[in-house]
Amino acid sequence: PDPLLRPEPLESDGEDRALRPQRLEDFVGQAEARANLRVFIESARMRGKAMDHTLFHGPPGLGKTTLAQIMARELGVNFKMTSGPVLARAGDLAAILTNLEARDVLFIDEIHRMNPAVEEVLYPAMEDFELDLVIGEGPAARTVRIELQPFTLVGATTRLGLLTTPLRDRFGIPTRLQFYTIEELDLIVSRGARLMGIPSEPDGTREIARRARGTPRIAGRLLRRVIDFALVEGDGRLTRQIADSALNRLGVDHLGLDGADRRYLTLIAEHYGGGPVGVETLSAALSESRDAIEEVIEPYLMQQGLVSRTPRGRMLARLGWRHLGLDAPRAQES
Ligand code: ADP
Repeated sequence: PDPLLRPEPLESDGEDRALRPQRLEDFVGQAEARANLRVFIESARMRGKAMDHTLFHGPPGLGKTTLAQIMARELGVNFKMTSGPVLARAGDLAAILTNLEARDVLFIDEIHRMNPAVEEVLYPAMEDFELDLVIGEGPAARTVRIELQPFTLVGATTRLGLLTTPLRDRFGIPTRLQFYTIEELDLIVSRGARLMGIPSEPDGTREIARRARGTPRIAGRLLRRVIDFALVEGDGRLTRQIADSALNRLGVDHLGLDGADRRYLTLIAEHYGGGPVGVETLSAALSESRDAIEEVIEPYLMQQGLVSRTPRGRMLARLGWRHLGLDAPRAQES
């Protein structure tokens, strides 16, 4: 699939760092989460304690890592980062935990992909700031208990349903991140253009915002590509016309759908009469992993009301038919 609209990080996103908001007040959108975090951060500071463990969940590219970094900065503590798949053995996690200083933030991305043996180590660490390490093997094995500095674990996951209940229950502050509105993305794009020193017209930044799938990471990436066109084929200003022609040439349609999304919609329409059709069937027919379909393609299509999920499978909604320029079969109009 076309990487341009994938919400996962890409190597080419390197410049992203410069655009990352550093403070909670610069973070656009997620008003509810932001307001709550402000209170919890402030309270932790007043009490001089580590902030409660926090879990961010929601589709990729919505700002989970960014918020975790902001938390550390606002709390005035170190930020350490790792991810579920990287922690292969219990000892890997133990090494990180024993190196934390008091009240540090440890961010674990993709926490649903942690090995169960590693997860076991995390429970007492989160609950009592203790580590039980098994030393030696067989009859000579013994457990030593190591005291840890109090710390804040920030977990991020795109798949809340894949988290085990004991792990989920240990987060005092579970926070769901939502897709951004066009207005919020417009602010993010305008700020990005300003930081990159590119003059922009309101209609130009808005056109990018409209086509960024509710996702800041995609907005940033589209902005960089549109700027390329503005510099080379325009007069260096970000106008609606430049944005529109650049995005059309890149295969991004007016809703922000790309080839992979359109193949998904077309498949349900043309081969399955609009559904219902199971996700495994779609995965096989599209040669996309089930995870990619459920984490990347579907959330935005559902949020836009193009597709719905029913107990019997995915159904193309009326807006989905209309987006493809097709008529919904009569029996299915709803
Ligand atoms: P996630 O961890 O959810 O995949 P990130 O925190 O890595 O997402 O954010 C992806 C990109 O989007 C980063 O470059 C970040 O700077 C940008 N970004 C995310 N949220 C915002 C926001 N609210 N305002 C401005 N930029 C944002």
